[in-house]
Amino acid sequence: MTRRVRFAPSPTGYIHIGNLRTALFNWLFAKEQGEAGHFLLRYDDTDRERSKAEYAEAILADLEWIGIRPDAIDRQSDRIAVYDAAVARLKAAGVLYPCFETPEDLELKRKRQMARGLPPIYGREALRLSEAERQRLVAEGHVPHWRFLLPNFERDPFAPRRSEVTWDDLVLGPQVVDLASLSDPVLVREDGTYLYTLCSVVDDGELGIDHVIRGGDHITNTGIQIALFQALGFAPPRFGHHNLLTTVEGEGLSKRSGALSLRSLREEGIEPMAVASLAVLTGLSGAIEAAPDLAALGRRLVLTEVSASASKFDPAELERLSAEIVHALPAERVRPALEAMGVPPEEVDAFWSAVRGNCARVAEAAVWREVVYGAPSLPALEDAGFLASALALLPPEPWGPTTWKEWTEAVKGATGRRGRALFMPLRLALTGLDHGPELAALLPLIGRERVAARLA
Ligand code: GLU
Repeated sequence: MTRRVRFAPSPTGYIHIGNLRTALFNWLFAKEQGEAGHFLLRYDDTDRERSKAEYAEAILADLEWIGIRPDAIDRQSDRIAVYDAAVARLKAAGVLYPCFETPEDLELKRKRQMARGLPPIYGREALRLSEAERQRLVAEGHVPHWRFLLPNFERDPFAPRRSEVTWDDLVLGPQVVDLASLSDPVLVREDGTYLYTLCSVVDDGELGIDHVIRGGDHITNTGIQIALFQALGFAPPRFGHHNLLTTVEGEGLSKRSGALSLRSLREEGIEPMAVASLAVLTGLSGAIEAAPDLAALGRRLVLTEVSASASKFDPAELERLSAEIVHALPAERVRPALEAMGVPPEEVDAFWSAVRGNCARVAEAAVWREVVYGAPSLPALEDAGFLASALALLPPEPWGPTTWKEWTEAVKGATGRRGRALFMPLRLALTGLDHGPELAALLPLIGRERVAARLA
């Protein structure tokens, strides 16, 4: 079977690490088949008020930052004519019916049902209206919304019976939703706009999506949507529902709050593979480690191993994973950033291998650039006699990886100092800091001229 998947965010905010989990589960699942796997980015933008072009652009850019390049892009707002046609088919089949209740009417009904200990399921009262009554309501200026008549009865829609929709979930295994436990969903609002449930099914059907992987908050929708696929004459795709991520406090993530958005993580200098690894590996068996690339991450993803309950994740893990990645980044990956900081192009390799172990983020290399090539603030020289001896013993250039050892051996011989008493005054005098990369690696980069000036 082919793997045609889609990621379907509504462009109403920046996507966060929980959204990325869904995107990556789909991407990695499809791309397990290599180029044959097809990933559609679908903007669910029928909510005109809240959908914004800038968010749509940001979603694409954020996915690209992670390494996800959609094979195709669609937006629901371009496909209204397709939904019109689907609605006409449902009406012709008699499974979409007009309802005239106001939200207040419905709320009152729900309260009455609850008070009587009944489940708050819509009782299909609008189906009892005769054609003449409907016409009268319309003539009086009432505008209907439209509900999908769930196939949960034999002959009498007012006598629903247990009607199981079942599917073999890619993550959770066999699943059952009883359509008799649900209200007929509204598919068309009073103002004629369409609801997600309709548009999503029409798109998945028309665009040949054969696998839908999404959050576990959609399980009930899936029961309804399978019935709708069938009413529209489409074979339903296979479904998988992954668990949701929550913060350590157990709170869900929200696009609206902007918390843990990919945008903010990128601005903070977190490495994209740290974000991708945490988004995918949380709630899977095995350790959470930074995967080197998406292909390696894909090999860790086994859908049937994803935990069924919500997974807490700790944003502090992002720092740890990101630092791990930065410590191992090859110079070629950071060359543009380092040159932009002012590291001489011919010294990028040596500079990066000297400092990367001391950087949790690439941007932190700027501190070491200043130490090596700039004018770090140096403490007042306390140990002037010792430093003067060290200055006198500086070897001539060229300097290389053994220069530090040769020099400090000579200083040790001349001054009798060893260990910390030997090295720390030199480190402080040369870098202004009591910690940092190996001086053996820094010394040749700082160079004789600057070293001499700092010791004087
Ligand atoms: N726009 C929907 C959401 O973000 C898509 C759900 C789905 O994958 O069908 O929840």
